[in-house]
Amino acid sequence: MMIRLAILPLILALNFSMCKRHESVANSQQVSSSPTSATTTAGGSPGPGLAGAAPSPKITKPVVDQTAQTLIFCYHGLVEKVRFPGTQITPAAFEAQMKELKDRGITVIGMQDLLAWKRGEKNIPPRCAVISFDDGLKSQYEVAWPIMKKFGYTFTMFIYTEGVRGGLFGGGEAITWEQLADMRDNGIDVEAHSATHQDLREGHPVTIREPDGKKVRKRLTGSEYDQFLQNELVGCKQLLEQRLGIKVNCFAVPYGFYNEHVKEIARNAGYEAMFTVYGQPITFTSPLDSLGRYAIEANKPKVFADAVKMIGTSSGGAAAVAEVGAANLSTQPADGETVRTALPLIKANLSGVGAIEPGSVQMRVSGLGVVPVSYDPKTGIVSYQVTQKLRENACTVIVSAKSEGKKVEAHWTFGIDATAAAAAKASPSPTVKK
Ligand SMILES: [Zn+2]
Repeated sequence: MMIRLAILPLILALNFSMCKRHESVANSQQVSSSPTSATTTAGGSPGPGLAGAAPSPKITKPVVDQTAQTLIFCYHGLVEKVRFPGTQITPAAFEAQMKELKDRGITVIGMQDLLAWKRGEKNIPPRCAVISFDDGLKSQYEVAWPIMKKFGYTFTMFIYTEGVRGGLFGGGEAITWEQLADMRDNGIDVEAHSATHQDLREGHPVTIREPDGKKVRKRLTGSEYDQFLQNELVGCKQLLEQRLGIKVNCFAVPYGFYNEHVKEIARNAGYEAMFTVYGQPITFTSPLDSLGRYAIEANKPKVFADAVKMIGTSSGGAAAVAEVGAANLSTQPADGETVRTALPLIKANLSGVGAIEPGSVQMRVSGLGVVPVSYDPKTGIVSYQVTQKLRENACTVIVSAKSEGKKVEAHWTFGIDATAAAAAKASPSPTVKK
């Protein structure tokens, strides 16, 4: 009996990992033509149908290398004659850096691959780099992209929407919507960098446009600030998604100025990851709401050199992690289960893991990052009541703790039947985000 119970979540988990992108088993109406989803059961219900399914012998969940590390680089303008060494770099220096990554065996991966790895869905090479460009400049399209193509590298563009040509701040050096669409069509990731590129913290001076069209410098508070922040985080995302027909899940914070409130609004807006400018190698457990990037500028050549050195020497840096099967933790929701609420109670029982060091219990939830859990040392139960609606069709939970000096970790994925959840709540939400 126990064995059957253990196998069922495994089969269900499989269905999830085989699905192309977060499609809940119960909810997938259209059958994908992709060959990778061929094993998805048609009905999707974990009923008796599964018992009769042909046994698939050696299928396992993808095991991700949790010791892999990634450097995220951030570039601005590429110009032959550097006039602003605080943001610009010459094309030759940029190309030399891209070559150095290759020579050092650092694999350039896409941002979405990095995030999939963080969710435990996809493996990445041991030493990686993600290249990003901020602010949407013409030179990124005309100069940087051809260099990236030479190396076969993909990258991410962080765009502030009022800086695109035709916007409030979109001057002569700005990229156009057409150029962005061209990049999108060629697989380049386009993500958000606010609407007007200003300090997002309440009470800090920003330039806004009054209803009469005049620009004024002001410290916004209260509802005026709320409105401003909504536009910077939500308005920017919606505009990018609508203009380009894409899904935006990353936000690069202008100047790196933010706080807990900004993070919360960003999470509510549906951003999966937020990026700052404090560069550091990204590890499996780096919090998703403050991923540090190395800003590369002409006047600080050491930043790049130090970054590649850092990842070069940090092979043994990550502590060994013992993986615990989620089935042993009686998780709730169970691995592979589909729940009908976007606000589930998440629970796991750590009593079988061994002596847990107090204060070491941590839970990460995809889309939310680290969440404040309650842990009862007597029962070994760790729990978290989700308070912000989960937006994806699937949710990955990672619970970690220290036991006898060793880090132990378990992850599992459950589905969310959003349509059922929405119907139950009769949600008045006017726009459907995809
Ligand atoms: Zn910027």
